[in-house]
Amino acid sequence: MMNENCIFCKIAQGSLPAQIAWSDDHFLAFHDIHPKAPLHVLVIPKMHISQLSDLTAQDSTWLGEYMLAINKAAKRLNLNHYKVQFNNGIESGQEIFHLHAHLLQYLA
Ligand code: AMP
Ligand code: ZN
Repeated sequence: MMNENCIFCKIAQGSLPAQIAWSDDHFLAFHDIHPKAPLHVLVIPKMHISQLSDLTAQDSTWLGEYMLAINKAAKRLNLNHYKVQFNNGIESGQEIFHLHAHLLQYLA
């Protein structure tokens, strides 16, 4: 399911360019266009979900795969020490309403 107004859906579809770091059939990791750390990658499910608080028990079937996707993206980037952050809601700083994990490495 895709949201036609969502820029991360467009990146997942390949209709908007991004610097891809890693992907598989269901998940995609790409470099943040305005990095807040020496290395800043976003890891998304290709399926559109607006935000973490929209997840339900039905999503538990693939959320483990999402954690493994973050792990695989980090390994592809040779990262061993990093932070993973989710923003949820406008007041948290969420700007893009397609679920994404910020993968941040501060030590370059
Ligand atoms: P958030 O504030 O959690 O919604 O994070 C959204 C992130 O997406 C920000 O760090 C932006 O710099 C990043 N971003 C916005 N547009 C793009 C884009 N076209 N390609 C890559 N990253 C983007
Ligand atoms: Zn989307």
